[in-house]
Amino acid sequence: MVMCSFCGRREAVFIRAYSGEKLCKKCFCTSIENRVRATIAEYDMLKFDDKLLVAVSGGKDSVGLLHVLARIEKNFPKATLLAVSIDEGIKGYRDEALQIAAENCSLLGVEHHVLSFKELFGLQLDEIVQKAEKILSGERLSACAYCGVLRRRALDLAAKQLKADVLALGHNLDDVVQTFLLNVAHGDVDRLARFGAVSVNKGGMFVRRVRPFCLVPERETAFYAYLRGIRFQSVVCPYASDALRNDVRVWLNKLEQRHAGSLFTVFRSFEKIGTMMPWDKKRFNVCRGCGEPCTEGKNTCMVCEFLEKLGVLS
Ligand code: SF4
Ligand code: ZN
Ligand code: ZN
Repeated sequence: MVMCSFCGRREAVFIRAYSGEKLCKKCFCTSIENRVRATIAEYDMLKFDDKLLVAVSGGKDSVGLLHVLARIEKNFPKATLLAVSIDEGIKGYRDEALQIAAENCSLLGVEHHVLSFKELFGLQLDEIVQKAEKILSGERLSACAYCGVLRRRALDLAAKQLKADVLALGHNLDDVVQTFLLNVAHGDVDRLARFGAVSVNKGGMFVRRVRPFCLVPERETAFYAYLRGIRFQSVVCPYASDALRNDVRVWLNKLEQRHAGSLFTVFRSFEKIGTMMPWDKKRFNVCRGCGEPCTEGKNTCMVCEFLEKLGVLS
């Protein structure tokens, strides 16, 4: 029997190839919670009296993060923890996720809010996909492209409506490194400077976004949820088909298997690159349609652009 290298008293149930640690159930869970605490401190993610809004999709990462933050919040009586779920309107998928998110919030005593694409933008994602197919043909984008842009906006609006100081997202180490590489692959170099543990928010144009799980590998967020007996949705979204992200994921998994710790190294490298890049408020204009920020040189944001093309705005 392999014993836990932390307490030496219980059987190890998890081996970290990148550090050599062998952990029992209790020490594994504590180590995840401590890593989140250390990440919050390293990046100065939260203040003692912040109103923290957690984006909870119902998947293992966001629900797991909510549980960890609820534990941490107990030590900060002046802080407030809230949760928001975005209902994109994906039939046969999102309903279960919303129910799971609500169940976890009620278990933890966390106030839960739901905002839908339908109420914010006038269309559900299913309707957007159908409309795009019908009226945009060759110009239409993938469901994930619409969903990603609209969900980012929905979360920003939720944070503003609820007067949250910070928005916490459940992205784990694998997600963040994949996104760094995808930004490179898409030539979206600007995003390298503003994406990471904390999304840079110069000029206060966006709600501050933090990723307290950014130093926890996906395998470990999943195992944490399993060990803590957390209920989460494991069904995959019917639109999930980002071929490039899948290729990047497969390549990174292979890299990590052969060279343990590579994900952390890639993460730190991209962080350094990000700090070398210029990033300031000048890169944004204000959208003439909705008043939200849009890219420099444009006067319409991507949300309004999408909605105009889909015939929702004229
Ligand atoms: Fe949205 Fe794509 Fe994620 Fe489905 S897989 S929830 S469509 S971003
Ligand atoms: Zn132990
Ligand atoms: Zn706009």
